[in-house]
Amino acid sequence: MSSATGSSPWKRVLAFLVARPLIAIVIAAVVVGISLLGTHSQQTPVTHRHEHVKLTDAEQMRLGSQQYEKTLRQDANQIISSGPKYEQVQRVAQRIAAVAGRDKPNFVWRVTLLRKHEANAYCLPGGKIVVYTGILPVTRNDAGLATVLGHEVAHATAEHSAERIEREHLTKVAAAILAGGVAFTPSQYLHILALLGVGGAAAELPFSRSQESEADHIGLVYMARAGYDPHQAVAFWQRMLAASKGKEPPEFASDHPSTASRVEHVRGWVPEAERAYAQYQST
Ligand SMILES: [Zn+2]
Repeated sequence: MSSATGSSPWKRVLAFLVARPLIAIVIAAVVVGISLLGTHSQQTPVTHRHEHVKLTDAEQMRLGSQQYEKTLRQDANQIISSGPKYEQVQRVAQRIAAVAGRDKPNFVWRVTLLRKHEANAYCLPGGKIVVYTGILPVTRNDAGLATVLGHEVAHATAEHSAERIEREHLTKVAAAILAGGVAFTPSQYLHILALLGVGGAAAELPFSRSQESEADHIGLVYMARAGYDPHQAVAFWQRMLAASKGKEPPEFASDHPSTASRVEHVRGWVPEAERAYAQYQST
């Protein structure tokens, strides 16, 4: 880095862009375009919280799809596409996606199982889900897996990434990334992210604690609406809590802080989830 070192990330990004006139023009056009778009306000499912985000459903889907395709290319040799674990993940994901799809009918849901030791799973903006085999011993059964998928899918339907991007003032960068197919080479794209101090893609920004808690709540109701016993979710979070106290806490636990109070919060939402579960059973 040159003389720009020490200035704000935005100035450094600007310095980088100005050195590339054509890119700067394209970015300017995109930035003007996105600034003209107002935020759309949406209500989160289940918790009914009002939030304002700029990225549309279509933009979120494109951000998520770009990241998903990159992951599938990088981990092509780890993709599991048959066998009992594959079938379990597809079976549970389909039921959770059917429920989440009522809140986000535009999203296109896909799930991929990767052979990886870490206990982890995530859902990208727009509905692309990745599950690592390492989480299956902790989820233990379909209801446990439904708890994890319900939680992850809730991050997507509650537009937590878009909200995060908004909060970090990265909307314009996200817009530029979306235009990346024309404006950037992959190395330029990574350079801009590095300048901004973003470790990975904008879609991988960590969630806040309140978003995690909200995903727990929505996810619990989702798994119950999909026909899984919500008490199984409490049992799952207790297993996570126990596992996170071990020598090597599961990745999922470090991304999603497993505390005793978290189990208590989930327990508090069980009556609401039980009503959803009863409704499922009566239909
Ligand atoms: Zn989470």
